Amino acid sequence: MKTIGMLGGMSWESTAFYYRALNEGIKQTLGGLHSAKIILNSVDFDEIEKLQHEADWNATAEILKQAAKSVEAGGADFLIICTNTMHLVAPQIQSAINIPILHIADATANALVKDNINTVGLLGTAYTMEKAFYKGRLTENFGIKVLVPGEEQRAFVHKVIYEELCLGQISEKSREAYVEIIHQLHCDGAEAVILGCTEITLLVGQDDTKVPLFDTTTIHAEQAVRYALLT
Ligand code: GLU
Repeated sequence: MKTIGMLGGMSWESTAFYYRALNEGIKQTLGGLHSAKIILNSVDFDEIEKLQHEADWNATAEILKQAAKSVEAGGADFLIICTNTMHLVAPQIQSAINIPILHIADATANALVKDNINTVGLLGTAYTMEKAFYKGRLTENFGIKVLVPGEEQRAFVHKVIYEELCLGQISEKSREAYVEIIHQLHCDGAEAVILGCTEITLLVGQDDTKVPLFDTTTIHAEQAVRYALLT
């Protein structure tokens, strides 16, 4: 079994979900007392969030490059960055290490292609919904059309992520509002919706809506388990 490297803490609420999903995935496949081999470097999200806010992406990249190097030095065979947003600096992180990064957008796109989804809605931080690094990758590399909510709804989705979900707060009101936004995206032509922030799975699940959901946290963790078990 390969050793999974994780860059976590963004936020730790979703890293905890990943940690459980990785171990459960290995246990389900190998059975008994088997568990995942993991090297985790969990950063202080307060530092990262402040730099995001200042749009100092180079400084975030420096912190994550150092963290990734320590994960590689610790013996990881590959790396997962446990946040969609910070894949914005995935190329810089990759340039600092020799082990491969399993890109969360590629894992998600492969799941969408498998289910013949051509047009998809995307929920995530404002950075993920508005910048090209994520939407562009889905469209250019996989031919998937990406729809995002309107400006006011994007601001709301972003606010809930940073002011509730990353703090471990789950609110029924926010869940209802997210479901409403998911339905709006569906009415606008999205065949499915990507939960493109690793904390959204803590708020909304497939039981809340008939619109097919693609949860990036689960998809990414499942891909990491499969990759770890490849011989
Ligand atoms: N975990 C979130 C994501 O998947 C947001 C936190 C962050 O900014 O990294 O995008």
